[in-house]
Amino acid sequence: MADIPNAQDPGVAGAQGGARVALLTQHGKEALLAPLLADSLGWVLAHVTGFDTDTLGTFTREVPRPGSQLEAARAKARKGMELSGCPRGLASEGAFVPDPASGLFPWNIELLVLVDDILGVEVVGIAQGLACNQTGVVADWAAAERLALEAGFPTHWLVVRPNGEDDPRVIKGIASWPALRTAFEAAQAQSDGGLVWLESDLRAMANPSRQAVIVQAGHDLVRRWRSLCPVCAAPGFWPVAVVRGLPCAACGTPTRERQGELWACVRCTHTLERALTGAQRADPSRCDRCNP
Ligand SMILES: [Zn+2]
Ligand SMILES: [Zn+2]
Repeated sequence: MADIPNAQDPGVAGAQGGARVALLTQHGKEALLAPLLADSLGWVLAHVTGFDTDTLGTFTREVPRPGSQLEAARAKARKGMELSGCPRGLASEGAFVPDPASGLFPWNIELLVLVDDILGVEVVGIAQGLACNQTGVVADWAAAERLALEAGFPTHWLVVRPNGEDDPRVIKGIASWPALRTAFEAAQAQSDGGLVWLESDLRAMANPSRQAVIVQAGHDLVRRWRSLCPVCAAPGFWPVAVVRGLPCAACGTPTRERQGELWACVRCTHTLERALTGAQRADPSRCDRCNP
């Protein structure tokens, strides 16, 4: 194992050493994450600029995101490493979907990816929660005001376009009532039928609800980073799968109930099954033999 760097070596994982980590963002994420990562891991975020991350996808749909959310975050982390010459890169990528329970509410999933070429690991922090993500079409200023208030404006910024959601004449970054009025009137003047489209500006600096989820993803990354592989000491040792087969309380047959978690190293092949605390036996009503 001597050739594999140990996460607890000072200056390697940064736990004690003030390791530099490149963060490529033009949307203010450095201010959200720098204090947390400095306090908890001793990392010094090197804010990387000079690359337009909007070329890797925009929420306003001018540029579709290539690949998955994780691939997009990884690509940004790698780009930041390349531009800065830093062997560690951090990047976040958000997604907005219907909530998983009911499908009725806007939901935000944030990934925070740390790529470390010194340790040879990639560790991903994840958080999710209710989103402030409103859209709608309005015909007059009073309706625009109502929609804006529902969308948490002006602390949550807005985007305005004429006609509808696909119109390319987009005005972003609207953060005050006078600016919204001006944008609304400009869009209405360009609109064929007088209709104006409003949508939440989902960029990190424009959406405090999203900022809170990004910070939660930062805390998750810290927890995962501190969990070391018992074999090779790489950070990021974490559950990757649920293990089913909890025995039936009546007959002992394995059921489909959860009995444990499979933990895996992100670097070596080590895996470990850990039992879940709580139920030691499954209720017979869940057993295919007792209750077919
Ligand atoms: Zn049974
Ligand atoms: Zn390992």
